[in-house]
Amino acid sequence: MAKKKSNQIKWDYASAPESTGHIQLKDRYDLFIGGKWVKPSSGKYFDSINPANKKVIAKVAHANGSDVDKAVKAARKAYDEIWSRISPAERAKYIYRIARLMQERARELAVIESLDAGKVIRESRDVDVPLACNHFFYYAGWADKLEYAFPNRRVEPLGVAGQIIPWNFPLLMAAWKIAPALAAGNTIVLKPAETTSLTALKLAEIIKDSGLPDGVVNIVTGFGDTGAEIVNHKDINKIAFTGSTAVGKIIQKATAGTGKKLTLELGGKSANIIMDDAPLDQAVEGIINGIFFNQGHVCCAGSRLFVQENVADIVIEKLKHRMKSLIIGDPLDKNTDIGAINSKEQLDTINKYIKIGLKEGAEMYQTPCDLPKGGYYCAPTLFTGMSQSSVIVQEEIFGPVLTIQTFRTVDEVIQKANNTPYGLAAGVWTDKGSRIFNLTTKLKAGVIWANTYNKFDPTSPFGGYKESGYGREGGLHGLEAYVKLK
Ligand code: ADP
Repeated sequence: MAKKKSNQIKWDYASAPESTGHIQLKDRYDLFIGGKWVKPSSGKYFDSINPANKKVIAKVAHANGSDVDKAVKAARKAYDEIWSRISPAERAKYIYRIARLMQERARELAVIESLDAGKVIRESRDVDVPLACNHFFYYAGWADKLEYAFPNRRVEPLGVAGQIIPWNFPLLMAAWKIAPALAAGNTIVLKPAETTSLTALKLAEIIKDSGLPDGVVNIVTGFGDTGAEIVNHKDINKIAFTGSTAVGKIIQKATAGTGKKLTLELGGKSANIIMDDAPLDQAVEGIINGIFFNQGHVCCAGSRLFVQENVADIVIEKLKHRMKSLIIGDPLDKNTDIGAINSKEQLDTINKYIKIGLKEGAEMYQTPCDLPKGGYYCAPTLFTGMSQSSVIVQEEIFGPVLTIQTFRTVDEVIQKANNTPYGLAAGVWTDKGSRIFNLTTKLKAGVIWANTYNKFDPTSPFGGYKESGYGREGGLHGLEAYVKLK
């Protein structure tokens, strides 16, 4: 498609090993409403920054209430006139088409994700983008089988879904939200996070290329005020939110009594538990992956490590040794293990918690390394010697910072692991099946991994207990969040 040259930058990432050479990004993005690119009514745009070098990648439209209203009207029209009327098999075809187009443009999506979010290309390429495609494939499969998904029930879509997503897995979160909503027959207004709008906007281009009827998916960009306009819009039937517990609570209050169906996927402070009979080298890899994957910007990060006392010294020694081999650097280099922190605000938050940990008297270990200059970086960090009530043990840091506690008995570790306001995930490392069974039944967490960590699949539901939110994404549970069952 011919585009005006003046509005386009050719990103030559030939030096990036995973790049095909040219990644096409506009220097300014408008809102995607009713299948068209629409200027924001305020005329305001904000910068999307590459956190690895602080350079502006593109300007992005800031949507206000009137823009959100336009998007909701477009979604309602598309719902009433097309999407709720076409056959489920037809809906499936569009969703499959989106999945295939995403696969065709996987490299471009991965490079843009790494540029915009600071995440390492190996993770964007091997985890985020393939999983995002798989979500579309998986839910496309359900679109014409809803009566088998919910036997003996009449299944209806909800209508217009408002979806607000965070910055840690921008494309993947968009896929988690959009795919099941479409399969169930809803139309969508989605807002990406302000620091990472670009892959959602690329997805809008893909959606347009797929021929999906205009207005079925609308993407509005902006900050919390834009999100609040979605939450409070009277003609939205469902809100799906992934983000901080603080904002989740605001949304819960705002939607109470409105009849909007709500799902919340919020924060976490997940326990990763190493028993003395665990295969320790494997467990150390699991600890590294649990906390340093995506710079620790993971709601289910294994950010509280519990090691059985008799193996604690050896595990900590192995962990420090392994940490020395982690490469912190350019997210676009495929050898990099740890990329950039997503934004200055997040780096400030992480550094604030590191200071609190030191002030509380905990002992800190950081990988000895020179951090890359010019971007937002944080060295992988361990803390030992905290108490259960320490702020760094209780609060979500959302960065590469691990607290380590020891325990003697299974009962003790269950009590400690459950002692936070959160309940998103947990990991258990042991050789004994009976121990896995015992721990996984008693840990209060929505997702529990045994002898692995941070494994995701479209078929398995994901979501939390307590202040980690409610509702599930993925699998049949994820579909249920977008239907009315009669
Ligand atoms: P974080 O603190 O990690 O940035 P947030 O919960 O603030 O996470 O952000 C997650 C998403 O919620 C982003 O898309 C953000 O713009 C949006 N958001 C922030 N505040 C609000 C709000 N009051 N109402 C709706 N959405 C919001």
